[in-house]
Amino acid sequence: MDLGAGAGSLACTDLEALHEHIGDCHRCPLGDTRTCLVFGVGDPDARVMLIGEAPGRNEDLKGEPFVGAAGKLLDELLAHAGLHRSDVYIANVLKCRPPGNRNPAPVEIETCTPFLSEQIRLIDPDVLVTLGNFATRFVLRTEEPITAIRGRVTSAGGRTVLPIYHPAAAIYDRTKRDVLFADFEILGSMVGTGGPLASGAGVPPEQTADQETLF
Ligand code: URA
Repeated sequence: MDLGAGAGSLACTDLEALHEHIGDCHRCPLGDTRTCLVFGVGDPDARVMLIGEAPGRNEDLKGEPFVGAAGKLLDELLAHAGLHRSDVYIANVLKCRPPGNRNPAPVEIETCTPFLSEQIRLIDPDVLVTLGNFATRFVLRTEEPITAIRGRVTSAGGRTVLPIYHPAAAIYDRTKRDVLFADFEILGSMVGTGGPLASGAGVPPEQTADQETLF
């Protein structure tokens, strides 16, 4: 099986070139079971990039991230932070749906994340918002559960990182939903007029992960 190029070695000129490079991907077995590959959507020059886990059923059918119930909640959360989908870029750890929405397997993450790293490099956002355990583990290289570190602004590879719950976990959980709205207020204050990033001062990181080799 071709595991694809390693992080940092793709050197695509832009997102379109990367999309073309990924092509009709069959580098891992998910290529045989998916309907659509879900590359990502949004502003290619976004200051904020959100990273989810993997496409679900609706995303697999439509080829776009977060178009189901979790996506509806994500739109509400973005609005709460004064943002719209078109202001940000949204991608996932995996570009193809794991059958039955099971967790991403290590080989799938290893195969697919060089493409996510390349997206991060090309978009060059100030802020990475990691949705749930899988995105947070990849960006921060941590084994800490999202419950322990959500809402704690930190940094990786020179970017500010805000780990938060995955919206899907909050659809039927009022408490998590309230926490998510509170965490998007943090995001709003980071990117809004007069917020720390708006003034160029940056957000003081609580901890720093050396991610230079990842993105
Ligand atoms: N959940 C994710 O993590 N990503 C999507 O695109 C949809 C649901």
